[in-house]
Amino acid sequence: MTKPTVAIVGRPNVGKSTIFNRIVGERISIVEDVSGVTRDRIYADAEWLGKEFSLIDTGGITMEDEPLNVQIRNQAQIAIEEADVIIMLTSVREGVTNADEQVAPILFKSGKPIILAVNKADNPELRTEIYEFYSLGLGNPYPISGSHGLGLGDVLDAVIKEFPDSTEEEYDESTIKFSLIGRPNVGKSSLVNAIIGEERVIVSDIAGTTREAVDTRFETQDGRDFVMIDTAGMRKKGKVYENTEKYSVLRAMRAIERSDVVLCVINAEEGIREQDKRVFGYAHEAGKGIILVVNKWDTVEKETNTMKEFEMDVRDEFQYLAYAPILFVSAISKKRLHLLPDRISEVFMNRNLRIQSSILNDVVMDAVATNPTPTDKGRRLKIYYTTQVAVSPPTFIIFVNDPELLHFSYARYLENKFRATFNFEGTPIRIIPRRRK
Ligand code: GDP
Ligand code: GDP
Repeated sequence: MTKPTVAIVGRPNVGKSTIFNRIVGERISIVEDVSGVTRDRIYADAEWLGKEFSLIDTGGITMEDEPLNVQIRNQAQIAIEEADVIIMLTSVREGVTNADEQVAPILFKSGKPIILAVNKADNPELRTEIYEFYSLGLGNPYPISGSHGLGLGDVLDAVIKEFPDSTEEEYDESTIKFSLIGRPNVGKSSLVNAIIGEERVIVSDIAGTTREAVDTRFETQDGRDFVMIDTAGMRKKGKVYENTEKYSVLRAMRAIERSDVVLCVINAEEGIREQDKRVFGYAHEAGKGIILVVNKWDTVEKETNTMKEFEMDVRDEFQYLAYAPILFVSAISKKRLHLLPDRISEVFMNRNLRIQSSILNDVVMDAVATNPTPTDKGRRLKIYYTTQVAVSPPTFIIFVNDPELLHFSYARYLENKFRATFNFEGTPIRIIPRRRK
């Protein structure tokens, strides 16, 4: 199911990031922190009254050398392209500004549902001053206060009312959706062309239902269906913001969200960079199947151990992706490219693997027999029962006497046992301790 997307638009300083953080709340995870995704976040999952959605703060995509009005127009454009519902944010303290007047008609013309929120209405007097915002022609203004957390509930009620009804899957379940992510110039487009160019039939180009995204569908000769999900830089539309790093990160995150398997592309010529870690970390967090693809392998001068050494560097830099296979390829010489569809299918299957409870519990019992459960302040962790509650990614609940006693290192030990017994190559797995009542 594709989650609806909400974007916040508004001029600098109206309180976009304050509101963004309020709506998203504290959902910071360890890996995200390590890889720097949380630092000035502009894209995150959120939920209101049980409805999940993705939230974008378009203000995070800055183009410093552009004048303010160009920046704001671009942000409005991004919101229109990416979002199902747009929150236009203004501030009662400054009143209706020129910038607000410029953005409002652009948003209105898009035909997307717009919720007009007037921020910094911190007290009852200020709340009575919101009426001038009717002049923007975007309907009812909602007074809110980001810093005091007032009024946001009404805004979110209005937002979720506008979500599209259809939450239908875009493709059938056996269709494998994948994307290629990586910095500009790592060779994503070349890989795409090489993969579909060689021997495979493109079934069709399908225009995305809610967004302008264009997916490429193809079928391998043995009849497997694949959909390649576009990321930034692969189909440029010639917009200024397309070259900003933030925008490409945003597009990568959007593509990851819709993918079953993500090919994390590294440029062998340049080695590993910080930005790689950031988006790859997001794919891991999102529970997607992952293949590390080292491209431009043709440019590397090889001696006996070159590949091994490069692999060790990659393993060292991406320790949290220890489960991901690594493939050394070249989009130019086409070396090993033919292996990709099979690898993608394998990872897809592993991510959908379901393990019988009886077998699972045998593995856990053996693991505990070899390496007894830890104790803390005289209390020992007791494991009663383990069961798989979900696939994609495989998720296990372990019923225990006290979840606090399942330390990270023991959870990791169990994960390694699972991995040694079952084929979870390429997929993250989740182990969740739960107190047995
Ligand atoms: P952005 O540039 O639109 O992302 O704005 P920020 O979220 O960074 O906020 C700009 C400034 O406005 C910060 O100093 C915030 O503390 C302040 N601010 C945000 N929300 C409110 C509010 O509801 N009331 C008041 N008085 N200040 C706010
Ligand atoms: P993208 O920005 O990630 O989509 O990267 P492109 O596919 O546009 O490739 C960037 C540049 O790298 C282009 O000049 C390609 O010809 C070149 N390139 C891509 N793949 C390879 C490769 O495997 N080997 C070599 N030598 N060059 C490559």
